[in-house]
Amino acid sequence: MATTSAAVDDPTQVQPTHDDPDRRGLTPGEHLVDGGYTSAAIGLAARAQGIDLIGPLPPASDRQTREAKGFALTDFAIDWDAKSATCPRGEKSRYWGTTHVDGQPRTVVIFPEYGCRNCRVRPACTSGFTRRLTLHPREEHELLQRQRAEQNTDAWKQRYAKRAGVEGTICQAVRATGIRCSRYRGRAKTSLAHVFSATAINLHRMDAHLTGRPVGTTHRTHFADLDLDPKPSRKTRTRHP
Ligand code: SF4
Repeated sequence: MATTSAAVDDPTQVQPTHDDPDRRGLTPGEHLVDGGYTSAAIGLAARAQGIDLIGPLPPASDRQTREAKGFALTDFAIDWDAKSATCPRGEKSRYWGTTHVDGQPRTVVIFPEYGCRNCRVRPACTSGFTRRLTLHPREEHELLQRQRAEQNTDAWKQRYAKRAGVEGTICQAVRATGIRCSRYRGRAKTSLAHVFSATAINLHRMDAHLTGRPVGTTHRTHFADLDLDPKPSRKTRTRHP
């Protein structure tokens, strides 16, 4: 458990979370996280420590992927060794270079203007004169492509379903110990309160396990209780079958 300033970004805490058990020889084989903790760079760093970081990656940011129409990045064949890409119409890129986006290295690939200008499917590909691709570094790109494809499969969803247990624990900590809001000023006291909360939750769960208390049902929010869905609610259907 780590207590940080509220201004610290969540993703920056993944590495320390892995380093600590690593130092004690307790490196986990997999770590289930929510989408706020995933990126290609974090996934690669975890893999270097032998940890499979499992969490949903955001979709590619190109317009074609966002709008789910036209030729997305996955429709292009990338040959990293030859530093070349081939578009869905078989046109080879004319430029392969490097740049930085938000301080991070990226590869830029541009297709020849003469090919794109006369291309019959250009509206499905680009609104400019030529198509331009911006790629993560090779290892990150390959991990992104592989994991984005995997996370749509039933096998991946089944594996990730265990994350619901983590969310349930967080929910229990928030509701039972009020961990979302510190009762104390200063990080030292807040951190101690977190240790007590975590200990209390562990004892509570051990007791529930040993006494065979059934697991709780999914928490329903006040907003969901407003029943804004035009379809009859489950509650209404139960009363008037
Ligand atoms: S617009 Fe250019 S890159 Fe896109 S499919 Fe046509 S030739 Fe290929």
